[in-house]
Amino acid sequence: MWLSVGRSEAETHCWRCGCEKKLQRCHIIPDPLGGKDEPGNIVLLCSRCHTEGPNVTDPEIMWDWIRAYGVPFYETFWNIRGMQEYKFIYHKSLSDEISDILRQANISPDDERAGRLIKENLQSVHDKGSIHFGQPYLNTATMAGLYRMMLKHLAETLGVCFPVAAADEGKPRTPWWSIT
Ligand SMILES: [Zn+2]
Repeated sequence: MWLSVGRSEAETHCWRCGCEKKLQRCHIIPDPLGGKDEPGNIVLLCSRCHTEGPNVTDPEIMWDWIRAYGVPFYETFWNIRGMQEYKFIYHKSLSDEISDILRQANISPDDERAGRLIKENLQSVHDKGSIHFGQPYLNTATMAGLYRMMLKHLAETLGVCFPVAAADEGKPRTPWWSIT
């Protein structure tokens, strides 16, 4: 079974996102639905994942959910969520945005310079987002916003246009609630 944490980390790292934070005992089947307070009905999750987890009577759902998110690194996990949010808002992936900006400046994304530029520009927005009261992390919309600001900054640094006109510009957007 591929989870975000290995056996040796199970007491210290969130089973879903793999972060090393204070963990909460989370019931697989919630108490109001008849779940018992015993080890077989418990997973250890960080507070953030605890809030996002499923609360249903079928215990398999919890494991499906935890397994689906299995990623090797904590940072990777929330970065992926931030990138998904970016694509949802701007209808273009972060990597495509970066490639398009670099292409305008005649820099190959594989270029050693490209990596350095991205790193520098990420650092430039590093302190421009903040956590919300009671949530000790940047939420996904904040991360997506920081990515956007990073791209603006990158384009400005290179003296190129951003956003690059998308092929589907002008077409009506699909409302979020009808996306399948
Ligand atoms: Zn977590």
